[in-house]
Amino acid sequence: MNKSIGFIGLGIMGKPMAKNLLKAGHTVVCYDLNENAVKEVMEAGASAGKSLRDVAERTDVIITMLPNSPHVREVVLGENGVLEGAKAGKILVDMSSIDPIVSREISAAVSKKGIIMLDAPVSGGEPKAIDGTLSIMVGGPGEAFEKVKKILEKMGASVVMVGDIGSGNVTKLANQIIVALNIAGMSEAMVLAAKAGVEPEKVYQAIRGGLAGSTVLDAKVPMILNRNFKPGFRIELHIKDLLNAINAAEGVGAQIPLTSQVLEIMQNLKTNGKAQNDHGGIIQYYEQLANIEVKKNQ
Ligand code: NAD
Repeated sequence: MNKSIGFIGLGIMGKPMAKNLLKAGHTVVCYDLNENAVKEVMEAGASAGKSLRDVAERTDVIITMLPNSPHVREVVLGENGVLEGAKAGKILVDMSSIDPIVSREISAAVSKKGIIMLDAPVSGGEPKAIDGTLSIMVGGPGEAFEKVKKILEKMGASVVMVGDIGSGNVTKLANQIIVALNIAGMSEAMVLAAKAGVEPEKVYQAIRGGLAGSTVLDAKVPMILNRNFKPGFRIELHIKDLLNAINAAEGVGAQIPLTSQVLEIMQNLKTNGKAQNDHGGIIQYYEQLANIEVKKNQ
């Protein structure tokens, strides 16, 4: 029989993910502070939880898809929260991108009541959340993973177990560092090319098949050339991820100097009103320094 699922956090990502579970025949009890989001998922077949506690009481597996660590802590451990409603043996799958240290803290707290937690952040963004083709990186006990793997496969094309609790979020932070540094490197290069009088579109076409080619280059350069900074993935969410990366790095004694530098660039863009831009908008920092714009047909 299909497990009943509690789904908490129906934002850009959570809403389509919950809808894919409904399509696969699961009973979904949903919850969000945003009533319109709840209404939309109810129209797709879910019922609404009266409270976080109610969601946990009524379901076998509880999924959270929230902005950051404090939200997950509050939803799970707060008053009238998930922990108050869940019984021993239930599985909590946190799919938010949060600080791995906090994943471990929350897991330790819920395990005292016999609840098992997995951290399972995703990459792929809204289009892949809609298609059900996210990449999902999972940390936690293998036995619990086996029990929810089929559920995760309804939302993701790739579901990979990477280690103990917190490992999913460590992997996600690695992903976010690589993407941020890639965009910054690409931006530096494209601004140099434009300033030196070489057409950026031609530079892109010439290098994309070589070692400098990447998924980031192919996703972001065409957007930049069209001056399209509509998110996608917002700079403010990437700032959150890099702050979590720095916190995690300090916790384990790793040094990530390039990440700190790109974080400062993003903070500068935020100060200048660009927090809601797609992270491809990082190029605007370099453009301002060099007083040039990277666009088509320069
Ligand atoms: P979002 O801001 O669109 O959605 C978050 C939802 O959580 C909102 O609907 C909000 O109302 C709800 N919420 C907040 N606090 C709550 C509470 N106390 N109780 C109930 N609901 C609450 O964010 P999103 O873009 O869906 O991202 C969710 C997570 O996924 C983040 O950690 C993000 O970094 C990660 N992520 C996002 C993307 C992307 O492209 N947007 C891609 C990969 C991963």
